[in-house]
Order: sequence, then C-alpha cells, then structure tokens
Amino acid sequence: MKVVDSVAELRAHLNDARLRGETVGVVPTMGALHEGHSSLIRAACQRAQLVVVTIFVNPTQFGANEDFDRYPRQLVDDVAWADGAGATVVFAPTTAEMYPRGEQTRVRVTRLSEGMCGSTRPRHFEGVATIVTKLMNVAGEGQYFFGRKDYQQLKVIERLACDLLLPVEVIGCPIVRESDGLALSSRNRYLSPSDRQRARAIPEALQAAVFAYRNAERHSSHLRQLVEARVRSAGIELDYVELRTEAELESIEGELRGPSLLGVAAWLGGTRLIDNVILDEHVKDLLQVPLDVQ
Ligand code: AMP
Repeated sequence: MKVVDSVAELRAHLNDARLRGETVGVVPTMGALHEGHSSLIRAACQRAQLVVVTIFVNPTQFGANEDFDRYPRQLVDDVAWADGAGATVVFAPTTAEMYPRGEQTRVRVTRLSEGMCGSTRPRHFEGVATIVTKLMNVAGEGQYFFGRKDYQQLKVIERLACDLLLPVEVIGCPIVRESDGLALSSRNRYLSPSDRQRARAIPEALQAAVFAYRNAERHSSHLRQLVEARVRSAGIELDYVELRTEAELESIEGELRGPSLLGVAAWLGGTRLIDNVILDEHVKDLLQVPLDVQ
C-alpha cells in the first residue's frame, strides 16, 4: 500500500503503472471509510489493476454552517481499511495541494445541480464538481467509482466528465445498507442511539413506496405522501421527498412514466441523511426483514 500526498508523486506513480500496461481505477472519498466505500474499492479491483482511493475532506462542498470542522478525519485507520479492501494507493492531499494559493476556478454543472440537495446546500455541487474535476485531472485516464447513494452527485459527475471531455469512465455502484436498511454513511456516527433507532424509518418509508409501486401505484404525489407520512410519524424532520426521472432528474408531476428516482433527505438532530431508490420493473427490496404495517 502506497500513501501519497502530492499531485506530482501521484501522477508519476500512475504514469509508471500505465507504462507497465496497468489500468487505473479511482475511488474518490472523504475518508471515515466504511463498507459502502469498500464495495466501491472492490468493484474497482475487479475492473482495474491499480486502484487509488482518494481521501480528502473537500472544504468547498460544505456550506458555512455545515459539518466541515467536525467531519471525521482518521487517515491511519482509513489507510488500513483501504488496504484491507484491496486498494493499492491512497492519495490524501492537503487543502493547499488541491487548491493552490490564489485559486479562483470553479466547475458548475447547471441544471442537474438544482433542486433536491442543491436547494438545501446551494453551492455544494459546485464544490463537488470542482474537486472531482481536479481529481480526474490528477489521476487521469481510468474508471472512477461512485455510490448511487449520492444519486444527484453521480449524475452531476457523469455530466461534467462528458461535457469536459475527460478521458474517464464513471461507474455508479449500488447502495450498501445496514441490516435494518439504513444506508451506510460516514455521518451515521453522529446519530444518538435513539436517533439511530428512528433513522430506520427512512429506508422503511422507501420500502413502503416500493411495495406500492409494485402494486401499480404510479402517482407521484401518492408515492411522495406515503414516504412523508412514514418518515414524519417516526418524528423525523424532512428536508425533501422528490420524484425525478432517473436519467435527467426532471421533476415528475402526475404519473411516473419510466424509471424514476425517489429521493429523500431528512434531519435527525443536527445530522442530515439522504437515501433513494430507483423505481422501475427491476426494483429490489431495501429491507431484509418484513416491513411493519402501519
Ligand atoms: P463520501 O466519503 O461520503 O464522500 O463518499 C465517497 C463515495 O462513497 C461516494 O461516491 C458515495 O456515494 C459512496 N458511498 C457512501 N456511502 C455509500 C453507501 N452506503 N453505499 C454505496 N456507496 C456509498
């Protein structure tokens, strides 16, 4: 396992690997690694010979009152975790390395960044698009792996890679969940025991919508209301519940006409959690246990 903190060193290392004929897979993260990240690393290992995990808590994607300062930083543990999952290189740059003195450049993906998480976190996707573009410029040609948990983020990244003609392939990977259905997240550790208990209402609400969808419910407001009612009845404050087209993230009013994203964001204490499911004919259950009827 090689740990690199400079752009020049990573470039040199990857150039050498490419000269040896190795393909490159990259898993961008903010660290505090968990099984969700491991699944991306394993997917990368299956498809590329050299796998880089990047660990960088990116300041430009946090709003002024968000959790940048308290976001968990645990590089030693993360390096061991990435190694265990099969990565070959960890790239953990400083902020000064990624944002040179005097920097003033941002990447903005316009329409896909609007609404959903973009409403509550106005410049969040600009920060994400900027750092991912930088990482793609540093690590270069290869396959880049992202989780579908951050579905809007995945769409923004697919778009920028295409629009900026970057020599990369963007690969979206399935959401990894706890046994009660809660999507794994580095932020889950902020939850108090009682909030952690209540948080399961989020995947349960999405599961209820999956059942309704399988029973031919296609009306967006009915599906939305079903999710809202379940989440609220657990005493959770909603940020949004939205139905959007899967590919372009266009708002759906009325009937669902094709594969659709059902996305939810909610607050538990001071912690904001997100989750989603794609409603289409292949939709799988989110929960391993039967859903309580309410
Ligand atoms: P983060 O470190 O939270 O910025 O996440 C880094 C990458 O891991 C992103 O592409 C996330 O979508 C992905 N990720 C985070 N949690 C999960 C999860 N539960 N399942 C799958 N991917 C995830």
